[in-house]
Amino acid sequence: MAITTKEVLICLHRMAEVLEANREYLTSLDAAIGDADHGINMDRGFKAVLAKLPSVEDKDAGTILKTVGVALVSTVGGAGGPLYGTAFMQAGMAVAGKYELEPQDVLAALDAALKGVVMRGKANLGDKTMVDAITPAVNAMRSALENGADLAEALEHAVAAAEQGMKDTIPMLARKGRASYLGERSIGHQDPGATSSYLIIKVMADVARELKAESKN
Ligand code: ADP
Ligand code: MG
Repeated sequence: MAITTKEVLICLHRMAEVLEANREYLTSLDAAIGDADHGINMDRGFKAVLAKLPSVEDKDAGTILKTVGVALVSTVGGAGGPLYGTAFMQAGMAVAGKYELEPQDVLAALDAALKGVVMRGKANLGDKTMVDAITPAVNAMRSALENGADLAEALEHAVAAAEQGMKDTIPMLARKGRASYLGERSIGHQDPGATSSYLIIKVMADVARELKAESKN
């Protein structure tokens, strides 16, 4: 099963809906260990993304994802915007010129997104950031594909790993970003960025599962 650019666009619209629906939740997580803006940032960023999509809807997946990245970098302040912006720009470079994405392309895009976040933010695993949700997701997706899973199955594994990675941030001490200013007081709270990353990966898994179900009918 390959993903067409039309389906990439569906995914992006769905991400915008989910981030809007989780705006208060993400902001409340950020209120505990940051400055209470993560949900606002993500919602604003993806609204800007939606405004840009019509101009690239006939383009390849790489151009679409790069456009998403640029929209996020230019509309979202703080750490989240540049980090997610870099993630989407790098994902776009990984699939430059492609109109159909095979499972390996989706993995390459997710892996490039992670590498972009790490390149820009320099966070290590265990620093209580989005890296703690995305890293296990990439690893789980890679091994699922190696073991013969299809895209929908591999993304199910990715989302389960991202969810676990998100929950695993709760006992961590923050070492990057605003939460790190709190030191020990950051312990006991779930990281907002790890949570938005889980939500974004969950949209990918949901869309892949729906496409698989449709293709069977
Ligand atoms: P800000 O912290 O500037 O207010 P946001 O609230 O939008 O930005 O985003 C906060 C999230 O960004 C954190 O929960 C964390 O997951 C992520 N983050 C912060 N710094 C880094 C970093 N250096 N590397 C990776 N992720 C980071
Ligand atoms: Mg914040």
